[in-house]
Amino acid sequence: MGRKDRIARAATQTASQARETAAREKGRSKRTTSASGVTAHRHCSVCWAPIPLKAEPPICSDQECEATYGKREASRKRLTFMLYLFPAIAILLAILTAA
Ligand SMILES: [Zn+2]
Repeated sequence: MGRKDRIARAATQTASQARETAAREKGRSKRTTSASGVTAHRHCSVCWAPIPLKAEPPICSDQECEATYGKREASRKRLTFMLYLFPAIAILLAILTAA
């Protein structure tokens, strides 16, 4: 048997192995979604600890997480406010200079 044949056979073996692995992966992912035993949940937006799905705000009961979330939320609100404020000022100035 030549070197070429050996390489060709090795390649076919690898390909069929890959197919088998892919088929196994498919079967496993199907199982995990249906009967993994993990109930639907979300994660604390600060420390990523699993929390109940309906937790609102999405943080765990940790005081530190609450403080961090509060700070983050405040800066987010400020950013949203600025996002609306600056175009509003620009439009106002445009109207004022046109008049
Ligand atoms: Zn947390």
